[in-house]
Amino acid sequence: MGERRRRLLVANWKMHFVRAQALEYLKIFTERVRNITKTELVLAPPFTLLETVGRELQKTQMKLAAQNLFYERQGAFTGEISPVMLKDLGCQYVIVGHSERRRLFGETDEIINKKLRAALDAQITPILCVGETLEERRITKRVLEAQIRGALHTPSPPSPLPSEGEGSRGVRGLQEGGRGVRSGEGQGEVGVRGVRHSLDLAEDLVIAYEPVWAIGTGVNAAPPEAEASALFIREVLAQLCSIEIAQKIRILYGGSVTPANFEGFLQQPNIDGALVGGASLDPEAFAQLAQMAERLSEPS
Ligand code: PEP
Repeated sequence: MGERRRRLLVANWKMHFVRAQALEYLKIFTERVRNITKTELVLAPPFTLLETVGRELQKTQMKLAAQNLFYERQGAFTGEISPVMLKDLGCQYVIVGHSERRRLFGETDEIINKKLRAALDAQITPILCVGETLEERRITKRVLEAQIRGALHTPSPPSPLPSEGEGSRGVRGLQEGGRGVRSGEGQGEVGVRGVRHSLDLAEDLVIAYEPVWAIGTGVNAAPPEAEASALFIREVLAQLCSIEIAQKIRILYGGSVTPANFEGFLQQPNIDGALVGGASLDPEAFAQLAQMAERLSEPS
């Protein structure tokens, strides 16, 4: 086993809070997480709060994320927000492809692909959300693989395709007894080499496995079930990038995480933290999650 990936906890505030509420939240939350050093804490407020929250987070170790972005740098795109603007406000992360955006705003894998590339270009780490709906539960792996390949797809790879065998090293070592991958399947057609240089830099991609049926429903996935999906995601990443990079990419679980169920997820070898919606709106509950992650992190 390689080095343990740093645990990451992301609060997705969705469309909640105005400035006074955000400041009140931060007063309570920052006090409760002052001791946290091993776990990375990220807040994703709505666009209107990025500046206010960002200013407060600068006084802490915590980081700022946006919940969405548009893929053009500037231009006549009324109502949209570009990666350059997010960077200017100090965003280090951006959520891409959240199921609410896929479902309510018609975001396709093609749009998500453009957004992911735009984020990487601007050196903002995308938190790519993938997950199956209730109807797709029987074919979860197929859905996850299609979403990941769709998001990381490079239309015209700038560098030559890998020589034969390069993409077929398998993924044993991701987990003891881990399954091998189908050798090199899809490597050429996906051509992640176009984004590979970016991923190589800092393993700058986070994946959030969020079963759609678990988001905001109070029904979380069973931790072993989430672990199986996380392991599968890592196998797909190993095929697309390399085993080394796949080992370094953090995979979060999201879907009705609360202080009552979080520990089960933290104990899974391929789950590196959580993307939290509902429970992140309560600073006390979110601080509890942070403390749990910190307790279960290895000594720094
Ligand atoms: C989310 O919106 O990403 C999410 C996981 O929400 P919740 O924690 O409320 O299920």
